[in-house]
Amino acid sequence: MTPQTAQQPPVPAGQPHFYYKDGQLYVESVPLADLAKTYGTPLYVYSRAALRAAWQSYADAIGSRKVLVCFGMKANSNLAIIDEFARLGSGFDIVSGGELARVLAVGGDPSKVVFSGVGKQVWEMEQALQAGVKCFNVESVPELQRLSEVAVRMGKIAPVSLRVNPDVDAQTHPYISTGLKENKFGIAIEVALAAYAQATRLPGLRVVGVDCHIGSQITEVSPYLDALDKLLDLMAALKKEGVELAHLDLGGGLGIRYDDETPLAPVTLLTAVFERLQARGLAHLQLVLEPGRSLVGNAGVLLTDVQYLKHTEDRDFAIVDAGMNDLMRPALYDAWHGVLPVVLSDVAPVVYEVVGPVCESADWLAHDRQLRISQGDTLAIESAGAYGFVMAGHYNSRGRPAEVLVDGSDWHLVRQRETFEDLIRGEQMLPR
Ligand SMILES: *Cc1c(COP(=O)(O)O)cnc(C)c1O
Repeated sequence: MTPQTAQQPPVPAGQPHFYYKDGQLYVESVPLADLAKTYGTPLYVYSRAALRAAWQSYADAIGSRKVLVCFGMKANSNLAIIDEFARLGSGFDIVSGGELARVLAVGGDPSKVVFSGVGKQVWEMEQALQAGVKCFNVESVPELQRLSEVAVRMGKIAPVSLRVNPDVDAQTHPYISTGLKENKFGIAIEVALAAYAQATRLPGLRVVGVDCHIGSQITEVSPYLDALDKLLDLMAALKKEGVELAHLDLGGGLGIRYDDETPLAPVTLLTAVFERLQARGLAHLQLVLEPGRSLVGNAGVLLTDVQYLKHTEDRDFAIVDAGMNDLMRPALYDAWHGVLPVVLSDVAPVVYEVVGPVCESADWLAHDRQLRISQGDTLAIESAGAYGFVMAGHYNSRGRPAEVLVDGSDWHLVRQRETFEDLIRGEQMLPR
């Protein structure tokens, strides 16, 4: 990160929708300081234009080809966000019954929903069969058996893909790598043929596709192509057995810029993928993608106020009012997020540990950041649109932040700040 000065503002990760003008950080046409003042902090702020631009980068890359984009909604499942994507034509990759209920709540099309996840429960299968999802991405043989039983009992046929674990290295953080042998996800590619044979024999199932999801924050195209090759070999073997698949799902995982990464553009991925499909005579195949982070990550920031600047012999701490319960990624993944002052200042720069108020040493948001800040200033934690609010919790009896969606010079409060009543809802003291 380049040290910021009042004369030379830093470049926000979410540009062009987040930018400095006259020393103030804006989202679209709204100064972020105004939102912090109106709603308080911590506050998640999203840009509708940034969401649309991210969607458009997929739409442009797809052109007229047969691709279904299913937003990996665990990245951000606020109703306003998924409603926006549904209206843009997106399908959804869900990992729970709760996520399906959200899709249905905004009037999303269940026939564009794929259901992933290693631990699907009976009620979740029933709910998804009732809704009529496009496909279950099945992650184990016992799941195949359970799904078939549930479908038979309901008098339905469950469309299935097997989530294959292609054993490729996504070259990303081990906690967000999912396509290696040692991960819990998917069915090992070596036994996939046998699992498909079993699936075709089960009465409640119809085999429709193949699926993989190799990890997250991937910035190279090669791991996708390695996985694709393995899936295409599997499809060829299946074809010999008389099993024809209608779609191939390459999962999500496209990386974004947090610091100085070069993100993997959808057009780069799709051009390479369709070249392979063409070469193998499979251009007619429907491709499914499940991007999460790349659709929302840089469309959001987390605003937080500096409570105290605490000088110790060892370090300088900027103690802010957002903690690991509001944004867990640094504590969970050692993740790097940019930190920008919402109003630029000329005070002397100091290298800070940016930490929250939660009683844990893991409660930090950023290490070693040179900042020109004073007590009471508002900071924007960048790239917080994905895996931000959705991972927020109540630890230390802290209510979860409010969320605002900016649209040009307008904004909408899309989730209220939680109150004490929200925190204790459903709790009960023992009878006296
Ligand atoms: C998390 C997840 C996604 C989305 O991943 P991103 O890295 O956010 O694009 C897609 N598919 C599955 C199965 C997932 O678990």
